[in-house]
Amino acid sequence: MNKIQTQIQNSLKEIIKPNTAEAQNVWKACVQIIKDHIGGLSFKTWFEPIIPIDFNNDTLTVKIPNDFSWEYIEVHYNTLLKKALLHSIGEKAKLVYIIDDKKSEDVTEPQNNFVKIKNVRSSSSHERSIEVDSSNFETHLNEKFAFDNFIKGEGNQLARAAAYAVANSPGGTSFNPLFIYGGVGLGKTHLIQAIGNSVLKNIKVKRVLYTTAEKFTMEYVDSIRKNSVNDFSSFYRTVDVLIIDDIQFFAGKESTTDTFFHIFNSLHQLGKQIILSSDKPPKSLSGLDERLISRFHWGLSVDIQPPDLETRIAILMKKCETFGLEINTEIIEYISSNITNNIRELEGCLVKILALASLEGKEITLELAKEVVKSIATDRKFSITIEQIQKTVSQYFEIPEDMLRSKTKKQEFVRARQISMYFCKKFTNASLKTIGLHFGGRDHSTVIHSIQSVEEMLNEEKFVSIINSIQRKIEINS
Ligand code: ADP
Ligand code: MG
Repeated sequence: MNKIQTQIQNSLKEIIKPNTAEAQNVWKACVQIIKDHIGGLSFKTWFEPIIPIDFNNDTLTVKIPNDFSWEYIEVHYNTLLKKALLHSIGEKAKLVYIIDDKKSEDVTEPQNNFVKIKNVRSSSSHERSIEVDSSNFETHLNEKFAFDNFIKGEGNQLARAAAYAVANSPGGTSFNPLFIYGGVGLGKTHLIQAIGNSVLKNIKVKRVLYTTAEKFTMEYVDSIRKNSVNDFSSFYRTVDVLIIDDIQFFAGKESTTDTFFHIFNSLHQLGKQIILSSDKPPKSLSGLDERLISRFHWGLSVDIQPPDLETRIAILMKKCETFGLEINTEIIEYISSNITNNIRELEGCLVKILALASLEGKEITLELAKEVVKSIATDRKFSITIEQIQKTVSQYFEIPEDMLRSKTKKQEFVRARQISMYFCKKFTNASLKTIGLHFGGRDHSTVIHSIQSVEEMLNEEKFVSIINSIQRKIEINS
């Protein structure tokens, strides 16, 4: 190679050299935010292996070890990642990732010390990116939830069929509202989001909105504070497909429910589709406006039951396939026979096995599976919810549960309410704001005050024994 050629090559290198130093700085800023929000082990498993490669035009390019990591991050940490990007880059931030999958045939070897950003694999899924810019209508849907990867089984057949019909003709069937109910981790969120994703993709309707009753409530409360309730309501009235998850959360929140009731009516009148999920059937949603419950019967309510063994096996096999994991059938059968009531736990089991295998270099054996299944059963024992605490405390004091969420200042109710809040802080990961919302939309400062009152009372011996026996009951009931 002559001198001029070398010179040209060097200048070219300069021009197309990825801006690694800047990428590292930007990623470092993101990491700081991420670390504040997740545990050390999770950070180590999912974020530490990410390598920043380039930063250009508000776009950060990173390398991620495998499909599975990306899938997991996308499902569990999407919001956090967006937040970190927004914070360290700004509104126009974009994240492009490439999968560092050495097994893939199409991997292009790095040339001239440059990492090829495009074409890591021909599949376009590897060039997906996250955009923070919110100028478009934000649907809040997670693309992961689709009909394609929702396994049909006896327990969910009817719900799935109804969801499918609605997805093909939103507002055009008699299933309006579509009300899907059932226990935790059985696929309600998956199914209602699948409807949204399918509508977006196949039908020329853009304003599809997914939210949770909790988020709706928080936004409503915020809008009162900011004097913008009208904007809040008007916004919801412009939506074509409104999907609200976990509406049992509306119980006892009168003015939020009232606002929702009016939005519901006006959307329904316009022939817009409404899709709701709940952990109970409409008739058991005590503490919710009767008028609203009767509206739910206008459409179709359908339940999801726990999956049978064959469905559980099918779901696990499908997950292994998407994660690119090879696990022998004996192990799959063991997990499916021992985790029976909750698909989220089935999935959690796989993730844990994978994490152990990749972090500690353990081989995926039946023994390892047994260990993990056992640890999941233990986690379950200690997962206590705000609802369970409210139920136990109101039973203990023999008062109606609604009183915990009501405005009454009667001494006995106030005390039961304070004790419940104290346990919510102690036993759940809920924020003060969330706890307040579960108690009739109280402010976080009220929650702090309640917790302090209980802590002061703990100086009295008599009170300590009350608290201890409530605590035992909570632990037993959960
Ligand atoms: P719920 O909202 O009822 O608590 P989710 O919809 O969050 O439950 O489901 C929990 C997990 O199980 C999700 O990751 C979801 O993708 C998965 N899942 C649930 N049902 C199915 C199914 N039939 N096929 C495949 N995955 C499922
Ligand atoms: Mg859900």
